[in-house]
Amino acid sequence: MKKIAIYGKGGIGKSTTTSNISAAMASMGFTVMQIGCDPKADSTRNLMGKKIPTVLDTLRVNGDATLEELVALSNTNVLCVEAGGPVPGVGCAGRGIITAFEKLEELNAYEIYKPDIVLYDVLGDVVCGGFAMPIRGGYADEVYIVTSGEMMSLYAASNISYAVKNFEKRGYASLKGLILNSKNIENERMLVDKAADEIGIPVVYQIPRSHYVQDAEIDFKTVIEVFPESDMSEHYKNLAKLLLEDVK
Ligand code: ATP
Ligand code: MG
Repeated sequence: MKKIAIYGKGGIGKSTTTSNISAAMASMGFTVMQIGCDPKADSTRNLMGKKIPTVLDTLRVNGDATLEELVALSNTNVLCVEAGGPVPGVGCAGRGIITAFEKLEELNAYEIYKPDIVLYDVLGDVVCGGFAMPIRGGYADEVYIVTSGEMMSLYAASNISYAVKNFEKRGYASLKGLILNSKNIENERMLVDKAADEIGIPVVYQIPRSHYVQDAEIDFKTVIEVFPESDMSEHYKNLAKLLLEDVK
């Protein structure tokens, strides 16, 4: 089992990218689990066609939870979990992630579903408290950061890298590289290459901007599900293969 955390600035395309690569990996026959680590709880929406109940909400309402209540299977065969978050204004958002991780372990989710790969889609420009959880305590093995050429997303990428590298020294997850999710700004590739150089990591893949993303999203679906033969699906599959390196 390989566990990968996907970080990046708010709105940069983490959930879109993660959902499409999860579906791409599942289409290649891998058992994939995607865990949304974002209080918005919309990470897996385009896999499930709707928002699913979160771990925190289920625990809050029922007092406890079974695996069946926490893990949903998408049409594309991806095991979907949403950590969720506290009631706004009450408690730390990161705490939800910690609680969700502990609950999944307590219920032996990994032994029962036996995922080949677990993808964590993590909200956060900065890696603090609970949001650092996926890269601590042996959760994620590898970290990728989604960015475009826009200044703010590169700034966030640099901050996240700094935090991950600090954890790296203590034997936590290793920072593998940047995923360029194109916004088609001028000199975009050059700007992102330069930032990657400064951080000291590669740009592992460049995803183009594509109308297929919105066309699929209107129905809360992934590009992989609706346009499996499109160029865009090909891109997500290529990226999926890169992330799957050394799995099986
Ligand atoms: P948040 O931090 O709010 O969770 P996010 O980083 O998960 O955001 P997404 O919700 O995946 O970002 O993407 C934001 C929007 O960008 C989506 O509505 C999606 O349609 C669009 N988008 C993402 N990637 C692409 C792409 N390659 N081409 C076209 N549109 C894209
Ligand atoms: Mg998201």
